[in-house]
Amino acid sequence: MNLIDVHCHLDICDDIEGVLERAKASEVKKIITNGINLDSNKKALELSLKYPEIKSAIGLYPIDALSLNEKEINEIISFIKGNSDKIIAIGEVGLDFKEDDKQHERQKEIFKIMIKLSKDLDKPIIVHSRRAEKECIEILEEMQVKKVIMHCFSGRKNLIARIVANKWFISVPTNAKYSRQFQQMAYDAPLTQIFCETDSPFLHPDKLKNNEPSFIIESYKIIAAKKGISLQEVSEIIERNYNKLFSHEN
Ligand SMILES: [Zn+2]
Repeated sequence: MNLIDVHCHLDICDDIEGVLERAKASEVKKIITNGINLDSNKKALELSLKYPEIKSAIGLYPIDALSLNEKEINEIISFIKGNSDKIIAIGEVGLDFKEDDKQHERQKEIFKIMIKLSKDLDKPIIVHSRRAEKECIEILEEMQVKKVIMHCFSGRKNLIARIVANKWFISVPTNAKYSRQFQQMAYDAPLTQIFCETDSPFLHPDKLKNNEPSFIIESYKIIAAKKGISLQEVSEIIERNYNKLFSHEN
C-alpha cells in the first residue's frame, strides 16, 4: 500500500532515522511535516530536502505568532516565499481559541496574512482550528480559498457539511481509534475529500507517549470500517486525493 500522513511534526520527533525506518516498514510512502515557527520551518524544510519521503509544509502556528513582532512575522513570510519551490503547502496555520486571553482578533489578522500567502503562491493550506472551527471556515470562505486541508477538525456535523460543500479536505487523525467524534467524521466525510494524519508526536492512537507516522494505518482502518471498503481501496482513494490536491507540487 501507499500510505500517506498529511500532517505531523517530525522536527520534534525523537530518533528520526528510526521513525522513518518504521514508517517504511509500515508502507508509509509520504509524510508531510509541518512547521510552526521560523526555527521549526527551517527544520521541516531541511528534513524534506534530506529524505525523499518527507514533504514539508511551512507556516506559522497561531499561538507562536502572538509572541512575534511585525519584523519577525515578515521574516517568516520572506522565508516561506523564498522557499516556495521546495514546499508543498502552507501549514500549520489557523486559529486556536482554547484560551480566551490569546488575542483572538490578532490571530485572525495573522491567519488572513497566511491565507493570502497561500493564494499568492498557489499552495494548499493546512489549517488548525481548535475551538475556532466556525471562525476558520468563515475566514476561508470569505477569502474564497480552494485548496484546504482541515487538520484534526473537531467541529460539528453542520460545519463538516460546509467543508464538504466547499470542496475542501478533512483529515482523520490516528486518535480516531478511541475518539467517537473522529470516527463519526470518518463516516460523514466523502471519500473524495478525506486524508489521514498522525499529528506526530501528538495524538497517539492508544494514548501512549509518542505518536509517529508508522501508526497512520489506524486512521485508514477507521475509514475502511466506517465506509465498508478494504484498506487497499482506502489507500488508493487517498493517494488519488493527494495527487489531485498536490498536482502542482513535487
Ligand atoms: Zn499539528
